[in-house]
Amino acid sequence: MTKDDWVEVCGEALAAQGIDHFHPLEICDVGRESHGMRLYDPWRLRAPPLYLIPTAIMLCRVLCDLRSTGRPMPVRVNSWYRDPSYNHRIGGVPRSMHMTCGAADIIKVGFTPAEVADMLEGHPDANLFGIGRYKSFTHLDVRGMIGRPSPARWGSNE
Ligand SMILES: [Zn+2]
Repeated sequence: MTKDDWVEVCGEALAAQGIDHFHPLEICDVGRESHGMRLYDPWRLRAPPLYLIPTAIMLCRVLCDLRSTGRPMPVRVNSWYRDPSYNHRIGGVPRSMHMTCGAADIIKVGFTPAEVADMLEGHPDANLFGIGRYKSFTHLDVRGMIGRPSPARWGSNE
């Protein structure tokens, strides 16, 4: 799967679901430069396999809900999909939800990470989420929606 293939196929899937606030490259690309990975290095960048698109869409829906909770503001993604070798390289946990397309490290413009985590706690599906509180971002995943044990909570915003 090339990046172009991913953009086309995932883009069509997102459009079919009416999701227009997120682009396929936000799912697979963002955050890599900050870890010293070149963005377009084909040996390192791997677009997610297509069977993960439904999981990405589940997470998109929650992120769209987050976007419109309270004062509507964009949700920015620091890190979403990680292929297994990339996950290993950056020291991710072995069964990281980031490898399923069902996790993203995010901020909501104009809100603190603590406020974002609190908004997610108020979501009707919060019992299906993993929520990690960090000083400069919030980790959100939809583990319970793909059959993994949930909920999960960790970290503090300090
Ligand atoms: Zn994360």
